[in-house]
Amino acid sequence: MVVKVEPLTTARALRGPFDYRLPAAMNGVGVGAVLLVPFGRRRVLGVVVDVAESSELPPERLAEPLGALEAGAPADLVRLGLRVAREYCSTPARGLELVLPPGTMSARGQTGPRRELVAEATADGQGALAGGARLGARQRHALEVLAAAQRQLSADELRAADVDRDVLRRLARRGLARVSEREVRRRPRTEAIGAPAEPVRLNAAQQAAAARIATALDGGGAELVLWGVTGSGKTEVYLDATSRALDRGRGAIVLVPEIGLTPQTMSRFERRFGDRVAILHSRLSPGERRDEWMRVRRGEARVCVGPRSAVFAPIEALGLIVVDEEHDQSYKQEGDPRYDARDVASWRAGQAGAVVVAGSATPRPESWHALERLELPTRADGTALPEVDVLDTRGLDGPLHPRTREALSRLAAVGGKAIVLLNRRGWSPFLACRECGQVHTCPNCDVSLVIHRHHEQLRCHHCGHSEPVPDACPECGSVALARHGAGTEQLEEVLAAAVDPLPVFRLDSDAAARSSGHAGILRRFQEAETGVLVGTQMVAKGHDFPDVVLSVVLDADATLRFPDFRAEERTFALVAQLAGRSGRSERGGRVLVQTLAPHADAIRHAQRHDSAGFVEGELRRRQALRYPPFAELLRVELSSEDESGVASAADRLASQIAGQLPAGAELLGPAPRFRLRGRHRRQLLVKAELREPAVAAVREVVESAAAARDLHAVAISVDVDPQ
Ligand code: ADP
Ligand code: ZN
Ligand code: ZN
Repeated sequence: MVVKVEPLTTARALRGPFDYRLPAAMNGVGVGAVLLVPFGRRRVLGVVVDVAESSELPPERLAEPLGALEAGAPADLVRLGLRVAREYCSTPARGLELVLPPGTMSARGQTGPRRELVAEATADGQGALAGGARLGARQRHALEVLAAAQRQLSADELRAADVDRDVLRRLARRGLARVSEREVRRRPRTEAIGAPAEPVRLNAAQQAAAARIATALDGGGAELVLWGVTGSGKTEVYLDATSRALDRGRGAIVLVPEIGLTPQTMSRFERRFGDRVAILHSRLSPGERRDEWMRVRRGEARVCVGPRSAVFAPIEALGLIVVDEEHDQSYKQEGDPRYDARDVASWRAGQAGAVVVAGSATPRPESWHALERLELPTRADGTALPEVDVLDTRGLDGPLHPRTREALSRLAAVGGKAIVLLNRRGWSPFLACRECGQVHTCPNCDVSLVIHRHHEQLRCHHCGHSEPVPDACPECGSVALARHGAGTEQLEEVLAAAVDPLPVFRLDSDAAARSSGHAGILRRFQEAETGVLVGTQMVAKGHDFPDVVLSVVLDADATLRFPDFRAEERTFALVAQLAGRSGRSERGGRVLVQTLAPHADAIRHAQRHDSAGFVEGELRRRQALRYPPFAELLRVELSSEDESGVASAADRLASQIAGQLPAGAELLGPAPRFRLRGRHRRQLLVKAELREPAVAAVREVVESAAAARDLHAVAISVDVDPQ
């Protein structure tokens, strides 16, 4: 037999797969196995992507694999990994890495199972105690412990009873005890936040959605968008759909934006399905991750919950993929391969005949346009959506509008909690000289440095550079330095003064890194009697607190100022999401939106909780401007420390790509992007009707550029459907 092996090396210029001859001893090796193979003068790991009777090369020219790793990937996931590589212009190795067992690519290799010593007394051992056999004190103690238990004792129990291994081994040699090893599961700790474990009775809208999903499960799959505000009961529909999939012998994958921000969703699945649920995410220890993955691979767990990478969980006979909060940007991977888990979910569901349920209060225009829609029009508890007031902040001095101050100051009297969202970390977004106007910028990136008062530092939010806050302007020596604008760190102080003596909790990546992480901050806010949660967009995600009576968005149009065609969509989602999470109590709720652009479409629609109106307007705009979903975008980014080098490389690639593009596709650029981490950047944008031919054209040019010697100092990355 011959196996076709894709080596796990990331060199773009290499074109696999390569044939190897399988010795008889390795007969069980099939697609998905991970082999150690000789490759040139090296030994590398490679994945079997195909098995054949013979090769085009004569047998004597084929090498044999040197061995196989314990675990590999299932064949359908190998196909999926290769497809990801192809569609996102990456390398086969990078695509395959996504589907391999955890740890395969790490320096220490795949993590093995954890085994522990267990022991029990034999019949002879029981008899020896009764018959008064001669035993040393330590052996007698150990045997007494085992005999009294009358069952196998775990390593922990043995340790607690002060029985050590050597003594057990001696007892075992005398036939008095039976000692063996057993595999123990490293179980991830999860944040169980109160949620019902028993199914609720679905209301009419939920039942209609659930019935449609059931039909799709039996009918070979479908892609559905479940549209309903927070609290409309989407998660109950996911739970119902999952249990229907399980009833039919099918498995389920549940994707959530970020595990730290959505502990509630995860714990609801765990509480409903118990050990049939596995969780997979990057914050698990290597051992936990391996064990969870193996539980899925062996079919012990049939439901897998996790962030975007869980779309590659090795669930067999997959029936359902849930994408919760489908509008969330975290479904797009930032590094190579820049895959979008929502697209991968759709491919995978297509392969498996599974159903995709993408849920959101603010579905993306892409999903709205392409997918069948199921609607949950009201909150499950019957509460109305809160009133949203838009406050014009043009000409405002300081971060809080007087009406915001007033609402906050009433909080102590009315009780309840408030959430304040400001999508900007740090104390102040920049420091400028009052004399010469000089703004402090990062030495590595062309961006202004952000003041972080806690550390008395200026920090770059792009490269991590930090430096002390200067006393004087390095340009002109003036000591008159102005701090402009406010970030969450400063806002925390402003709010503490405004709501004194109520507590203020800050949730942003700085605070999460310092204290017990996102979940810890959220838990403290949840447990507090009253108080204010202030933070970046994290506060608008995942969780919802029924006792929030006031939600405030500051500088709501900040995202609108981004030069990106999705700016409108982001702004709308941010405001609508926060609004949808408010007012879930008998005290009602209020939402205040501070903005410089009170008349922007995104703000006006969010004010009316009008997703349909917003998305339909947005789709018309995108159709007119030829943006997704009416066209495909590809971004090619080039970067180098040498500015003229990157500029000429960009010109060269631009003309090569333009020459390869199919008719109707256009190439925009090269356009400069701001310097990042000391690297000058240029970007090319391809706009095309169809994705595949455009990707093929770009791939060909980029692969030959990667092999070109004179371009070795230029890094090139491709982003298909950039976000
Ligand atoms: P979403 O996922 O849309 O935010 P959830 O499924 O979390 O909504 O439901 C919100 C709250 O309403 C939860 O506490 C849930 O238990 C409850 N709930 C949902 N559906 C029902 C129902 N049919 N009957 C009673 N309570 C429900
Ligand atoms: Zn100056
Ligand atoms: Zn920087």
